[in-house]
Amino acid sequence: MKKIELGNTGIEVTPVGFGVLTVGNTQLNLPLKEGAELVQYALEQGINFLDTAQYYETYPYIREALKHTDIRPVICSKCLDEGYQEMEYAISQALKEMELDYIDIFLLHEVRADPDWENRTGAFRCLMDAKKAGLVKAIGVSTHHVDVAQKMAGIPEVDILFPLINMKSLGIRKGDGPGTKEEMAAAIKANADAGKGVFAMKAFGGGNLTGSYLEALDYVSGLEGISSIMVGIGKKEEVDRIIEYAEGTIDPSYVPDIAEKKIRIDQGDCEGCGDCIERCPNKAIFRNRAGLAQVDHEICLTCGYCAPVCPVRAIIMF
Ligand code: SF4
Ligand code: SF4
Repeated sequence: MKKIELGNTGIEVTPVGFGVLTVGNTQLNLPLKEGAELVQYALEQGINFLDTAQYYETYPYIREALKHTDIRPVICSKCLDEGYQEMEYAISQALKEMELDYIDIFLLHEVRADPDWENRTGAFRCLMDAKKAGLVKAIGVSTHHVDVAQKMAGIPEVDILFPLINMKSLGIRKGDGPGTKEEMAAAIKANADAGKGVFAMKAFGGGNLTGSYLEALDYVSGLEGISSIMVGIGKKEEVDRIIEYAEGTIDPSYVPDIAEKKIRIDQGDCEGCGDCIERCPNKAIFRNRAGLAQVDHEICLTCGYCAPVCPVRAIIMF
């Protein structure tokens, strides 16, 4: 598969990447061997780009996959914490748990509207130091927010932007409200023009657009400034199709079997603490009349971000 340079970083990635969140314990919860084999399969078929994060708890799958192949993919990880020391720990944990000497890309995970960027000054300073020390090759942010994406274009130390975008604007945020795909596309172009590497998440809006597979991918891959699209993958067949898409050999009439991810909050287990409501970046969880958490399926992107914060594991992805 062809490779594209991520901005001015010198890092080359395939036009599609494997978002490893899918295999982990908040989503498919594949056994270690099975998940690792899937990652290995994707690498051997030609995908050279993996996305993970501290809180996905998927480092073991990558470590095991790498033990069974000589391929060294580009690996991106991320951390939600604000402070220097917490980020330092996150980087060392990623290196240790994946048995790596360096990580290609490390990001502030899911930067939200102001003042979140300012709050994370310590964590970003740590990323800059890690880059100087050669532990990380490129640094930046992932975000669902148009305003954050716009701001990153003007920050020279940011190498990478990992924004959310899709053809229906699902999940795009701006300040406290929704943003549009046009606004995010403009921010992406501004970042690319400034030499940042940009790769996209949620092209399928968390499963809501999977039925329009080609159209959804065409929209994102056609945007100016996008080098790669990160896609959640749970089966070998999905690896094959996404590679065919990237190589232009996919059957144009292909429509995936839409076994969409689903989410359910067990009302018997929920204790109404509100942590998931606070955590959901899309404001897709509300408190029902009983004071318990309930999902608005019209808005939910099935990203799985809420599940790990539930102290009683009442949130079930299936
Ligand atoms: S409810 Fe959970 S799965 Fe749905 S969008 Fe919010 S965080 Fe993601
Ligand atoms: S985090 Fe869990 S217990 Fe708390 S409101 Fe959400 S589902 Fe209920």
